[in-house]
Order: sequence, then structure tokens, then C-alpha cells
Amino acid sequence: MESAVNPPHIAVLGSGFAALTAVRELRRHHRDARITLVAPRAALTYYPSLIWVPAGLRRGADLDIDVSRFLAGQNVEFHAGRVSGLADGGRTVLTGNGSITNDALLIASGGRFLKSLPGIEHALTICEGVAAAESIRERLEKMDRGTIALGFGTNPREQGAMRGGPMFELLFGIDTLLRRQGRRDRFKLVFFHAAKAPGKRLGEKAVAGLLREMQKRDIATHLGHKPTGFEADRVKTEGGDVPADLILFMPGMSGPAWASETGLPLSDGGFFQADAYCQVTSADKVYVAGDCGSYPGPDWLPKQAHIADLQAKAAAKNLLRALAGKPAVARFKVELICIVDTLDRGILVYRNEKRALMLPSCRLFHWAKRFFEWQYLRSYRRTTRT
Ligand SMILES: Cc1cc2nc3c(=O)[nH]c(=O)nc-3n(C[C@H](O)[C@H](O)[C@H](O)COP(=O)(O)OP(=O)(O)OC[C@H]3O[C@@H](n4cnc5c(N)ncnc54)[C@H](O)[C@@H]3O)c2cc1C
Repeated sequence: MESAVNPPHIAVLGSGFAALTAVRELRRHHRDARITLVAPRAALTYYPSLIWVPAGLRRGADLDIDVSRFLAGQNVEFHAGRVSGLADGGRTVLTGNGSITNDALLIASGGRFLKSLPGIEHALTICEGVAAAESIRERLEKMDRGTIALGFGTNPREQGAMRGGPMFELLFGIDTLLRRQGRRDRFKLVFFHAAKAPGKRLGEKAVAGLLREMQKRDIATHLGHKPTGFEADRVKTEGGDVPADLILFMPGMSGPAWASETGLPLSDGGFFQADAYCQVTSADKVYVAGDCGSYPGPDWLPKQAHIADLQAKAAAKNLLRALAGKPAVARFKVELICIVDTLDRGILVYRNEKRALMLPSCRLFHWAKRFFEWQYLRSYRRTTRT
């Protein structure tokens, strides 16, 4: 659309959902901009399907997508490196592999999980990616019987910085898997959480529905007791211990460790503080999208791939407007869409600023999640220019 004698140089940090969506949006609206993407590898991890790895419905390799051809098709330079900090208010990106100057910056390098509870090494954390999901599959295969304890935490300094949905999926998926294998009667499943009503951000109807589903599947609960640590054979909580042979835990989230080396404003929970236009507050031409940001909005604003994509589109539009000397106008839609998959069925949860609803478990939603995965990844697997 726009062309310039001296095209601007835009740096995008990360190669996840938000970063790649931002690249697509930037290129769509600015044919000539020089875009450099900085990430450790030119790869997208498709996290939403990790929950299918323990049951063998997906292999890790299916979800680790090489995006180098996509980047080449978008005429994006790839800088392999890990960001370690920023200088000059964001105009210089510092990496383990040299520094990059830019005219505008979009930070989309994802969140970090707080591994501060003592004994956390005894828990497996699926959010860490493909290797963790494969370890869960291996542990399940080796277990003949026993207790599996599963839960998730939050960031005490920013209560919304949590990811509960995938843990419900993992719980129900393991239950379905063990039943399929005809050995569910040899296992006890226990769901633990600090709150009496876990997953409240999904909406009250959803909490009730999820607890009903646990009851229906004979999953025990240990609710309203804050976890205080882990040992090899137990989860320790303020309300007593939960004995366990396998512990699956998703800790609360924070921003990137290097955020403190940027001089940019951070939220209480350690995320880049953004305004409603995904601009890092009080920073010039520095934008943020996805899990590494903290945004104004309702307390249930999710940290999800879907909203990361919406934020990336808004951030990219506002960034280009700023380069053209125009004020920000694009905001992202505030909504939560989640299919809580149970390996063969799914429960649909939807929330926006007006309503919250939950549609009961059915096969269609499981297949919708599979279809969405195929459709989403199709464009990154294609070799042609998009
Ligand atoms: C098991 C699981 C299931 C999920 N299910 C769903 C779901 O069903 N629906 C949904 O909407 N969301 C789901 N999510 C959440 C979703 O995956 C995240 O919200 C989404 O990945 C956030 O996108 P992002 O681009 O902000 O970060 P990420 O996707 O985490 O991408 C971050 C990128 O930054 C790169 N990076 C990291 N550190 C650096 C550094 N120092 N320098 C440069 N680059 C760096 C990483 O390599 C990566 O490329 C799930 C998450 C998990 C873990």
C-alpha cells in the first residue's frame, strides 16, 4: 500500500502467534517496510494441541512448525537470537547474537512461568512445550496404577496471569485415555487449586459445568487450599497434602525475564504495560502483543492465542500509523473463546463484556478444534507468498 524512498525498519520480537500475525499484518499494509524478526528459532509452537500429545493424538513434531518459508515469503529478515534487553527506549534490541536498531518495535516474545514453589522440579509443566508434553506421555505409559494430581496456579501480583483451560483439558483427556485403555479403575485423579471455584475467569456457568464434569468422571477435588510446594510423592497445600505418583502443574505467569533490562514500564506482575492500543505506555513506537503484555480490560481478560492474534493486528496497525505520524485508532476485541477438549468431545466456553456462556460437551466441538488447528497452520506450512 505505502511505499517510501527510505522504508522504515521494524523489529518484531518472537515467532509465536502474536509475532507471526503481526508480520502478516505489517506486510499487508506496508509492502516496502524492512521487517526483521528476532527469535531463537524460526519456528511456531502450536500450544493448543499439546494437550493431545500425552494421548498420542499428536506427536511433538506435528506441533513444532518451521516458519522460515513463511518468513521468506513475507520478505522478512530472520535474526536468530534471544533478546536480552533493549536500549535507547526500544530503538536498539540487544540479543545474544548482536544488536538491531529499528524505527519501530513490536514485542511479542511470550510469557514466562513462575517456577518459585519449592520442589517445582517434581511437577511436569505442559506449558513448557513439546518436550514436556512428551514426558507426560512417557510417564503415563510407564505407570501401571497410582494417583495423578493436577492443578494450576497464578501470579500473586497479577491474578489474571494464569492459564487454566489447558489443565482442565489435560485432566479430562487423561481420564478419557485411561478409560479407553481399560485401566481407569487403577488410577485416582485429583484436581487441586487454591480457589474454591477454579477457572472463575471462564464465567460462573463454566466453573459449575467443569466441576460437574469432574464429578461425572469420578475425579476427586482438593479445592480452596493454596499449594505451598511439591515433593516427589505429594503436593503440599495449606489444607494438607495430596499424595501423588505423578504431578502435573501449570504455574502462574509473568513477563519475560529480560523485561527488567529494558527501562520500559512494567505491570505489577512483570509484563510490559500497554494501553488500549497495545502501545507500551510512555514509550515511543514500542508496541506489545500477546502473553508478554498487560492490557487494560476486565479482570478475566485471557492470555490466549486468540487474543494474542487480535492484539497483534491492533498493535501492527497502530505501529504503522505512528510511523506515518498518525494517532492510534485500532483496539482489540475483548473476548474469550475456548474449547475445553476431552479427547473425543469438547465444551465450548465464550465470554465477552456482555455475556458468558458455556455449551455442553459434544463431539462437534472436538472436531471444530481439530479443524481450526489445520486451518491455522495451513498458511504457515504453505510455501507460496501469502
Ligand atoms: C498447553 C497449552 C494449551 C493452550 N491452549 C490454548 C487454546 O486452546 N486456545 C488459545 O487461544 N490459547 C491456548 N493456549 C495459550 C496460547 O498458546 C498462548 O496464549 C499463545 O501462545 C500466546 O502467544 P504469544 O505470541 O504471545 O507467545 P508464544 O506463542 O509463547 O510465542 C513467544 C515467542 O517468543 C519467542 N521468544 C521467547 N523468548 C525470546 C527471547 N528472549 N527473544 C526472542 N524471542 C523469544 C519464542 O521462541 C516464541 O517464538 C494454550 C497454551 C498452552 C501452554
